[in-house]
Amino acid sequence: MAAAGSFSLLDGGPVAADIRAGVAAAAERLRGSGIQPTLALVAATADEPAHWYARAITGAAGQAGLAVRLADLGPDATADQLAGQLRELAADPGVHGIILQTPLPGGAPAGGLSSLIPPGKDVDGASPLSAGRLLAGLPAFAPATAAAVLTLLDGYDVPLAGRHAVVVGRSMVVGKPVAHLLLARDATVTICHSRTRDLPALTRQADVLVAAAGRPGLIGKEHIRPGAVVVDVGTTPGAGGKLTGDVDSDAVSTLAAALSPVPGGVGPVTTATLLRHTVTAAGQATGG
Ligand code: NAP
Repeated sequence: MAAAGSFSLLDGGPVAADIRAGVAAAAERLRGSGIQPTLALVAATADEPAHWYARAITGAAGQAGLAVRLADLGPDATADQLAGQLRELAADPGVHGIILQTPLPGGAPAGGLSSLIPPGKDVDGASPLSAGRLLAGLPAFAPATAAAVLTLLDGYDVPLAGRHAVVVGRSMVVGKPVAHLLLARDATVTICHSRTRDLPALTRQADVLVAAAGRPGLIGKEHIRPGAVVVDVGTTPGAGGKLTGDVDSDAVSTLAAALSPVPGGVGPVTTATLLRHTVTAAGQATGG
């Protein structure tokens, strides 16, 4: 870890730009062999952040030379309709990546439906099959946000082996897969959640702290070990759509060695990671 006293921002912008450049080059190579890498987004929601996210992915994909197929079934879609759509896309050789956007109608859990996405096309690591494969050390795509946390840390050469990483949050989307990816990199990992007793006592042991609770300001100065590297995954939308992280950045920056900003940290790397997973899936599907 860096010495306490110096502080830097883990800016996701340059890391994401590097990924996007690699994606654009890979997409061009694939198109040269007659393959148009294609990502399908399946949505069934009136949720505005979900639509905003779909537009952001579509824009970024277009710039990198990927095609996006948007299957918006509307907020009244049934589970059967969604399942039919996912089966169709799973069988379509022209589709290389599939994302099932949440929330689902009626707040239905995504686990059952996302099982219909074959691991080779599960570019956001949503399916329980992908999660199991990841846990077993078999080839699988990790959820893009979790993968992005590791990519961001690697982009700034943050050492992980033998370090104590503390993850706040245990969702299947972020907390659990991040913890597993950190463990796979030989970090010693502690996972905290809403029932954890004395959160600051645990987070203060962290060389690397990943905050993924979706609770603005949860992590303050009292949670930080001097010289720690802090990744803020939280993105809680506030007035006017402004995103707020889980970390009180003003307080934490006085003690931490580095902190990822919100917005501009994990977010852009996540979008770029989805695109990278899609060109990887297209290459694998075509033996490239
Ligand atoms: P989630 O499903 O709501 O999970 C939140 C986790 O945080 C849960 O495990 C919960 O514990 C834990 N938690 C809540 N309050 C806590 C507290 N006071 N102390 C300790 N732990 C607490 O959320 P998620 O989908 O994992 O997302 C987490 C955050 O990341 C959200 O802000 C989300 O918007 C953001 N996110 C960002 C990106 C990106 O690209 N930057 C992508 C995905 C998500 P329990 O399990 O005990 O309830």
